Amino acid sequence: RKFIFVTGGVMSGLGKGITAASTGRLLSNAGFDVTAVKIDPYLNVDAGTMNPYQHGEVYVLKDGGEVDLDLGNYERFLGVDMTSDHNVTTGKTYQHVIQKERAGDYLGKTVQIIPHVTDDIKRRVREAAEGSDVCIIEVGGTVGDIEGMPFLESLRQFAHEEDDGDILFTHVTLVPYSKNGEQKTKPTQHSVKELRSIGLQPDILVGRSPDKLDPETKEKIALFCDVPTEAVFSNPDVEDIYHVPLMVEEEGLDEYVMERLNLEEEALPPAER
Ligand code: ADP
Repeated sequence: RKFIFVTGGVMSGLGKGITAASTGRLLSNAGFDVTAVKIDPYLNVDAGTMNPYQHGEVYVLKDGGEVDLDLGNYERFLGVDMTSDHNVTTGKTYQHVIQKERAGDYLGKTVQIIPHVTDDIKRRVREAAEGSDVCIIEVGGTVGDIEGMPFLESLRQFAHEEDDGDILFTHVTLVPYSKNGEQKTKPTQHSVKELRSIGLQPDILVGRSPDKLDPETKEKIALFCDVPTEAVFSNPDVEDIYHVPLMVEEEGLDEYVMERLNLEEEALPPAER
């Protein structure tokens, strides 16, 4: 089984969820069974009690789970039904670990974020991925947030435990324009530095920008962030978010992901899609 982790840098609301869903859609077009997990680093157990004006719609799943609206994007982009197990929150994880502690399941141990919370996070991701060829895991928030740390540490451990060819890290960042019309890569460099400081090296970088990234911008990002130039993709502003899969397909994101995860041979012939 393959895992694609999607993190975000610079700021939230960038389009990380849409980038993750688009990657999934392209892999599902190529014949793979794709599922997704949304990680939300908030202490609410689920999104059901959150103000929609502040947080967007509460998406209700078939099993009655009240979850983050990103799950709606995943269901629509991937054409699959998910369960509340596909939304992992800090609240859910801590509640479970603390309930186990009260039940005496840890037998005299000091219960800690590492390993007890991180183990629980990894277990949830693996269980949600069962039955799929590829699981896309989006980490909500921005790299560097205190709230996200236990999740990013779990990803680091996850990568350590799985085979190299089974895991990819995609980092979505902002590429703003300066007043003289230049695409600026510094925010991307800083957020990748932040990622690296916690032991994560991105394999793929996606730059959210009003327009496609210039070849020079891609080269600069590749050099400073230590990825091949062909691993840097654009996600420009589009009128309709359902065009994002086409935009990233144009630059070959699907082919690059499949190559990195050795997915080519396993793809179904078009007739069976
Ligand atoms: P994040 O996961 O980074 O918080 P989302 O994927 O939820 O961000 O997207 C934030 C907002 O930006 C949504 O309203 C989404 O529809 C919009 N959006 C995402 N990608 C694009 C794009 N390429 N062009 C225009 N709007 C986009």
